[in-house]
Amino acid sequence: MDKPELKPCPFCGGEPEITEVIDRTPRNLEPVGFGVKCDQCGIIIAKIDCGVTDWFETDEEAAEAWNRRATDDART
Ligand SMILES: [Zn+2]
Repeated sequence: MDKPELKPCPFCGGEPEITEVIDRTPRNLEPVGFGVKCDQCGIIIAKIDCGVTDWFETDEEAAEAWNRRATDDART
């Protein structure tokens, strides 16, 4: 499986990685979605929908949002 490519972190230039978010309830270790995380500065990107934080449904979706963010920030 190919991993989607990620641009360097717009905040610290570090290498981000896609992270699968697990819902850690006692009976249920289900993956709830994907985010993109930079270990170097600790930022994590999630989907914000009407002020509610949610996770991306696929790793591609997470990567796309991260890359869009990285490009936007690089322009300013
Ligand atoms: Zn970073």
